[in-house]
Amino acid sequence: NVRKGENGSPTGYQIENSPDQVILVKGVHQPQVSVEAYQKCINVCRSRSTPSVKKGIHGIVRNPLAGIVICSNCGSRMQMQHSTTKGSSTLLCTTPRCMAGVDISRAEIALLDILRAKLEEIRTGQGKKQQDSALAELQKSVQATEKNIQSLKKQQNKLYTLLEQEVYSIEVFKERNQVLTQKLTHTKEQLKTLQDQIDDISNRKAERLAQNIEHVLANYEGSSPKEKNRLLKTVVEKALYFRQSRTSPFAFDVTFINM
Ligand SMILES: [Zn+2]
Repeated sequence: NVRKGENGSPTGYQIENSPDQVILVKGVHQPQVSVEAYQKCINVCRSRSTPSVKKGIHGIVRNPLAGIVICSNCGSRMQMQHSTTKGSSTLLCTTPRCMAGVDISRAEIALLDILRAKLEEIRTGQGKKQQDSALAELQKSVQATEKNIQSLKKQQNKLYTLLEQEVYSIEVFKERNQVLTQKLTHTKEQLKTLQDQIDDISNRKAERLAQNIEHVLANYEGSSPKEKNRLLKTVVEKALYFRQSRTSPFAFDVTFINM
């Protein structure tokens, strides 16, 4: 927010950051919904977002890459232009003279190749190795938290013994038991958060992505552009497009959906 009077603005205004500039900080407060529920919502929202390209004459999505490919030079979504004389379609940056375009079918082939490579990477476990150290750290924390829970339970048992032996009065017992119960509840919540984080970065996630990629690869050919677009969006969050000139090769930097 830019406040009234700041930067010489008489009314104040808001600047919307692009999603990749938003700072996300993990674990500042106890989660109000589970990570899974949150991701599910995000995925539903994304799957419903309207492609940023113009629809065809009958309101049909004609560009299978609609809303997916982003120009790495200016950050705008690349759009499809159909040439009736050439009978081909080109993926173009809408900013004039920004970046050389590419034939849409070549772009599709390249993207599918990247999907195949990603699938291969997951299946051979290369993607897993990068997550191993983070996973080991989390597992250490889980062990420490489990130990903590055991120790709190022991203390609680002792409390009952002291009550039975009439060392503690009912009042003292209640008071101390309440403190321990609160600690126990809090520690169990911590454990749940840690386990959610482990799920996040462990195989389950990669496996889900692998299954979705397989589904895309099996159904892509022969699907309508609209369906192709929907399929790609189940696995690809965005694809940055690079090409120096019309005579140089092009490349994509694909960000996969974080499931
Ligand atoms: Zn551009």
